[in-house]
Amino acid sequence: MLPANEAGISAAVTALAVGDLVAIPTETVYGLAGDARNGAAVARIFEAKGRPSFNPLIVHVPDIETAQAYGVWSDTAQKLAEAFWPGPLTLVLPLRAGSNLSSLVTAGLDSIALRVPAHPTALAILRAFSGPLAAPSANPSGQISPTLPAHVAGGLGNRIAAIVDGGACGVGLESTIIGLTGAPALLRPGGLPAEMIEDLLGAPLLQHVAGDAITAPGQLGSHYAPRASMRLNAETARPGETLLGFGPTDGAALNLSPTGDLTEAAANLFGHLHQLDRTARIIAVASIPDHGLGCAINDRLRRAAAPR
Ligand code: AMP
Ligand code: MG
Repeated sequence: MLPANEAGISAAVTALAVGDLVAIPTETVYGLAGDARNGAAVARIFEAKGRPSFNPLIVHVPDIETAQAYGVWSDTAQKLAEAFWPGPLTLVLPLRAGSNLSSLVTAGLDSIALRVPAHPTALAILRAFSGPLAAPSANPSGQISPTLPAHVAGGLGNRIAAIVDGGACGVGLESTIIGLTGAPALLRPGGLPAEMIEDLLGAPLLQHVAGDAITAPGQLGSHYAPRASMRLNAETARPGETLLGFGPTDGAALNLSPTGDLTEAAANLFGHLHQLDRTARIIAVASIPDHGLGCAINDRLRRAAAPR
């Protein structure tokens, strides 16, 4: 447990810089933060939370200028960011080409969710770290979001490097998520009332109720399905196939992790699929053990391989 002072913030930043995970206070809920550029750090977030599938994570930045480096900006984005950042509002924007973010943080999508949090400690950590932080709620998957350091310690205490004690979260609700890849859409209601956003925009938001493709858990990934067809649990490549290996795999075009490390494999998953999909007709994938992060990897692979 680190205090929310200069020494605590500096210790948190040191841990984040080597790819460790630190729970940080935000005004919404405690976030489980990891370097959004570091695929292994992002993979560890899914591992620590025990998430059964890879959904894209919100990337936290210290200011509008940094957000503009990762998302394709628009007049609407500027208007909303000026009015409500720092604050409990997340904007989903087209991902800027050539960004150095881990492809796991966007779950391989070409959109990015960005937020500038209002908690002074979160902002101080972001400024000192001077990099983007992926930070979903700091609780085991399926459990209640944490609004106190003790909640985080109870759920994840033995799985993360540190918790920065910033007291109770002021808002206590996740951020409101607005999609700006098309007409402004409410993707998730949250800490900022949608009416305030509609008043500012002078128009109603499109509503994506639960069950829509965009918000239903487990369906988001279907936004990225490879062009190539897929064959899972392959031992070797058949004629016409390109092999994606795991562990020692003969004849693999690419390998998710030659040493069979699931964290490394998760970090490589979307990048390798994108790369092979540029030329492969059929991607054959070696079998991945179905435990720990392997469950989320297999979930994603099964959906990529599903008939369409
Ligand atoms: P959280 O678990 O609080 O980090 O919220 C993550 C949610 O934000 C996801 O389930 C999506 O609804 C949304 N989201 C995050 N990143 C993206 C993205 N790149 N494109 C679309 N929606 C996103
Ligand atoms: Mg959550």
